[in-house]
Amino acid sequence: MTRRDYYEILGISRSATPEEIKKTYRQLALKYHPDRNPGDKEAEAHFKEAAEAYEVLRDPNKKRIYDQYGHEGLHGAGFEGFNNFDDIFSSFSDIFGEMFGFSPGRRSGRRRPSKGADLRYDATITLEDAAAGTELDLDIPRTETCEGCTGTGAEPGSSPERCSACGGKGQVYRSQGFFTISTTCPQCRGTGQYISNPCTTCKGSGKIVREKRLKVKIPPGVDTGATMRLTGEGEAGELGGPPGDLYVLIQVRPHDTFVRQGDNLYVEIPISFVQAALGTTIKVPSLNGEVDLEIKPGTQPNQVYTIKDQGIKHLRGGGKGALTVGIRVQIPTKLTREQEQLLRSFAETVKDTVKGSGKQKRNFFKGF
Ligand SMILES: [Zn+2]
Ligand SMILES: [Zn+2]
Repeated sequence: MTRRDYYEILGISRSATPEEIKKTYRQLALKYHPDRNPGDKEAEAHFKEAAEAYEVLRDPNKKRIYDQYGHEGLHGAGFEGFNNFDDIFSSFSDIFGEMFGFSPGRRSGRRRPSKGADLRYDATITLEDAAAGTELDLDIPRTETCEGCTGTGAEPGSSPERCSACGGKGQVYRSQGFFTISTTCPQCRGTGQYISNPCTTCKGSGKIVREKRLKVKIPPGVDTGATMRLTGEGEAGELGGPPGDLYVLIQVRPHDTFVRQGDNLYVEIPISFVQAALGTTIKVPSLNGEVDLEIKPGTQPNQVYTIKDQGIKHLRGGGKGALTVGIRVQIPTKLTREQEQLLRSFAETVKDTVKGSGKQKRNFFKGF
């Protein structure tokens, strides 16, 4: 399917100002509005096309993408246009609300059931829990549908009545020349209902705030930034709509011993220069207790040893990361007389010049 250029659809130039874009769209929307062209498929297509063009050109970000990369670019950025009239009306409610009003039979302005708000919870866990997986008990304060009135807001045994001011439509209409202007009914605030006997539990709101304890399974291998979505555990919906979702954002606390590097763990271990030179076996901490590590003779400062499978489990797929051990070679700052003698003897064997050996001077004059 070839798509027409958005500027061409609206009949404007590429340099049109936001005001011109809005004005042009308003005119087209008025011309092709489904209420004025009932059953006209062609008008319907024009109406949708114009809405899509306006949706893009009124948004500086989308407009930039379109100007630079065209339809393809928008598609790549995830822009999909509109599925139906309701999407269009709700997206441009500013324009339609001001300009047209709607024929009540077709588009009732009454508030409809809508999904509740999503909630976000930040959970901080230890590195140990991130590695092994865990189950969190979260106490989430959230609004729930009132059980006393099942969300209607009316005391059990009574029911909400139709609002007398708007006749239950939620909107009041006023004619002004060609247009009908609609506004939210001030008496029922758009619900179309009037509650003369409010529910005592929720005071007529239909909702109560309650702390709910939820168990959240944290899989092994999670890292900071991971998000768990608990469908339907957010705030209660409006007028019987479905509840929102709860998003749990994971933060892994820094560890005293280990530094996490992806699924690998890094730990630094000090050994003496003698151990480095002669080799030894040391105990290295891991998340599963201490493990033995063989230090080879001639190990250098900052040399890194890798112990396989002692890191963090890969979140996807099997296997684990490694434990990498950075070796810090320590030089003694104090020596006993005996140790000093031994080291001087050692220095002789490798012909090293050391302080106080007298050799330093000899070597210096040798050069002349
Ligand atoms: Zn209630
Ligand atoms: Zn009303």
